Amino acid sequence: MLGSFHPSNHCPPTCLCVQDAHEFLTTVLYQIRKLSPMLQQIAASRGKRYICPVEDHLLFKMQTIRTCRSCGSQTKHTENFTHLSLDLVPRGSIEDMLDMHLMETELNYKCDCGNHKSCQHSSFLSLPRVLMLQLKRFFYTPFLTVRKLQSSIQVFKQLLLTSNQACGWYTLVSVISHLGDNADRGHYLSEGVNPDAEMDGSEDCWFTYDDSDVRLTTRDCVCQLRDESAYILFYHREL
Ligand SMILES: [Zn+2]
Repeated sequence: MLGSFHPSNHCPPTCLCVQDAHEFLTTVLYQIRKLSPMLQQIAASRGKRYICPVEDHLLFKMQTIRTCRSCGSQTKHTENFTHLSLDLVPRGSIEDMLDMHLMETELNYKCDCGNHKSCQHSSFLSLPRVLMLQLKRFFYTPFLTVRKLQSSIQVFKQLLLTSNQACGWYTLVSVISHLGDNADRGHYLSEGVNPDAEMDGSEDCWFTYDDSDVRLTTRDCVCQLRDESAYILFYHREL
């Protein structure tokens, strides 16, 4: 699939004329969630139940707490997410990028006590069944053009997530990669576990979906080959 690689600034979330894979995916997820109330009503009128697949599989809650450095007063904010967008840590692992995302940061915010220095940090309130992560492999130059970051990262098979209530191990099940060194064009391919092989216990049997060409691969091979191009990763929570 041909595709540019960074979010366009002119398309509303209802528009499907996008070329960035992450933007396209979030637009589709938004549309599926938007249809959910209507489909629930239709299902209920027929004595059935409709469960939105996005909310069932991808949705999770995060809490952000802002704390005043002077008086210690706290403000809490809870928000639903279907994925996280992580800053790229060159040569780092996905866990390093998640840790950085959740790290406490300093904030210039005026508290009621008059102090301007606060800190804030985010944490998982709940964990999704499938965790979708976008790696920000692009940056804006001072001239507002977009460049791609080709830095190598470490993609591991497993990931441990911790929420305020529990922790969960996740296994890598799919990777979308952007090939090419230009942010405005390139080639996308998708790789993922063969669900039939997974049921047989041979979970390292993966497919590469490259336009009409579909070929066999392995998770180890994907982790090694896509260290400079992995863009969107999907981790499935272990039972
Ligand atoms: Zn204060």
